[in-house]
Amino acid sequence: MVGELNMGKVEQVCLTPIGKVHADFHETNKVPITGGQAFVEIFPEYLPALQRIEENSHLWLLMWFHEADRDLLRTVPGRVNKNLPEYGVFALRAYKRPNPIGLTLVSLKEVVENGLIVEGLDAIDGTPVLDIKPYYEQDIVFSPRTSYIRAADYEMRRTLFFNEALAHHQEICPFLYLAVRMALVADELMGQITKEDLNVTVRGSRCLGDTLQGLTHARLANPPRFTFIESNEVQQSTWKNRERSLTISARRYDLDEHAFLHLTDDQLFELGE
Ligand SMILES: [Zn+2]
Repeated sequence: MVGELNMGKVEQVCLTPIGKVHADFHETNKVPITGGQAFVEIFPEYLPALQRIEENSHLWLLMWFHEADRDLLRTVPGRVNKNLPEYGVFALRAYKRPNPIGLTLVSLKEVVENGLIVEGLDAIDGTPVLDIKPYYEQDIVFSPRTSYIRAADYEMRRTLFFNEALAHHQEICPFLYLAVRMALVADELMGQITKEDLNVTVRGSRCLGDTLQGLTHARLANPPRFTFIESNEVQQSTWKNRERSLTISARRYDLDEHAFLHLTDDQLFELGE
């Protein structure tokens, strides 16, 4: 019996949606890459399956991108950067793919009578929801190797770095803003900041150190890429690879959202070797 099962190819899989997305986005190309707030309606017959879901801060949502092109096997992630090379769709998270299953990590804001309010969902209004699973600590690989899909647009890079920094550091503080802007300068001048041969030394507050560690995925050992020296005197990061070294020193430490968005690199930092 087992042999028979293994030999046969499953020709079709039939799925029944358990709910539906209600979001402000109505066209796939208008959905922000980092998603937004949405209401996930759960159909009445599936509501008992939500029991104890509020014990989780984050959830994986599996959806069916019903409007997606299913014939595509290779594509350029053009919304992020038109100049990137072509990738196979299994090496990307593009919504166009043979089985357009959407997989998104969202944070759970509230459980309401007929569904969930979530943040960070990148699906259009009306998208069928196939399944929901909790995000567990075991899901984390702190320093994975990934394709370097660098956004062409500065503002998009800033948003992506900010979201990643916040997911790691878990609070918006002046040093998180400072760390994100430092990381953007390093990304511009040193290249991919998560690269294995890039060493990072942070002198400054614990918040600066923690956020930069989160953004660079630099570990203390194996390989040793990260050094932290606590200091009240300076807020500084030094980036070093085989070819060069760059030190970014903050001129001011009191960043708020306005300063984060509007001050120039020159106003914020002094650069050295
Ligand atoms: Zn902080």
